[in-house]
Amino acid sequence: MTERIREFLKSRREDGPCLVVDLDVIKDNYTAFAKALPDTRVFYAVKANPAPEVLSLLAKLGSCFDTASVPEIEMSLAAGATPDRISYGNTIKKERDIARAFELGVRLFAVDCKAEVEKVARVAPGSKVFCRILFDCVGAEWPLSRKFGCEPAMAPDVLDHAKKLGLEAYGISFHVGSQQRNTNAWDRALASAAAVFKECGERGMNLSMVNLGGGFPTKYLKNVPTVKSYGNAIFKALRKHFGNRIPETIIEPGRGMVGNAGVIETEVVLVSKKSEEEDIRWVYLDIGKFGGLAETMDESIRYPIKTPRDGADTSPCVLAGPTCDSADVMYEKQPYALPVSLEIGDKLLIEGTGAYTATYSSVCFNGFSPLKTYHI
Ligand SMILES: *Cc1c(COP(=O)(O)O)cnc(C)c1O
Repeated sequence: MTERIREFLKSRREDGPCLVVDLDVIKDNYTAFAKALPDTRVFYAVKANPAPEVLSLLAKLGSCFDTASVPEIEMSLAAGATPDRISYGNTIKKERDIARAFELGVRLFAVDCKAEVEKVARVAPGSKVFCRILFDCVGAEWPLSRKFGCEPAMAPDVLDHAKKLGLEAYGISFHVGSQQRNTNAWDRALASAAAVFKECGERGMNLSMVNLGGGFPTKYLKNVPTVKSYGNAIFKALRKHFGNRIPETIIEPGRGMVGNAGVIETEVVLVSKKSEEEDIRWVYLDIGKFGGLAETMDESIRYPIKTPRDGADTSPCVLAGPTCDSADVMYEKQPYALPVSLEIGDKLLIEGTGAYTATYSSVCFNGFSPLKTYHI
């Protein structure tokens, strides 16, 4: 929560929940990443918050962009990025979208299998490709599935195929899992990457780049290590596994770049109990899973919530959204302690919501508008 956001909310007159993002915080985050990893290029993961204000700020600061679709490429270009600062990092792309990206000037593509390599080779000739490898994501609060990446042992074949089809076998990528609170997670991933580099070298392919992915956390309820300590741990791991032949590196922070810059203001719609005997109260807000808080799925991300009655006695509450879908319950397995004095109409602040919120809000489920956003 920043003074600027507090002032903005004081003067806001519209009804309904909203996300307010302080661009100064994003600027500080970018600077912290650039400082912590001085030899690494930053590719902001656009999906975390694709607001034009965010993209143009980062473009101005010198950031590159990791995109997953043609519209994300177009938004990055519109924000002022040149195509050489854009990576098409999704391993699942339609061939015509790869063609469109190539037309727009993009020359860097992610792949994780031979079929995807063939698509890129057909419509983006001569481009650079990096192969994403699987990682088990231990230690991440929002782990990623096996959806993206191949077993490291398969990566040399994929890259070899790329080379044979006239592409540049450029490097390896991985993602250690989002909200990764363990700074050493990169160590094991870099060990795999180094093994792939070695195997490729033996086959006559000299890879140049390791894409270290995202995973840098935002502070929610628990403290998280500083960006600097991630930088130190990553540099140490690079030294350990690559010796004095450290490759070119890039990072793709999403959550860590924008998460702590945003606050959602929401209103308590109802406080109730399911029976007179039960202690648990149900607190219904005007935002829920379908209004932008999709990452409460499986209660993975637990946001800090501030109330105007903080300091008073608390009791456990189930927290739910306003829609008629019974899945629209955010915290129930592990209830959330809120002040006993909480009342209908109270305004709550949900902190750390600058990433993965606004774009997740549904179009108009139950007639509720998509989350209003302000970037100040
Ligand atoms: C989503 C994504 C990121 C960003 O991840 P964070 O955990 O938010 O930093 C980075 N790279 C790729 C390929 C992604 O899909």
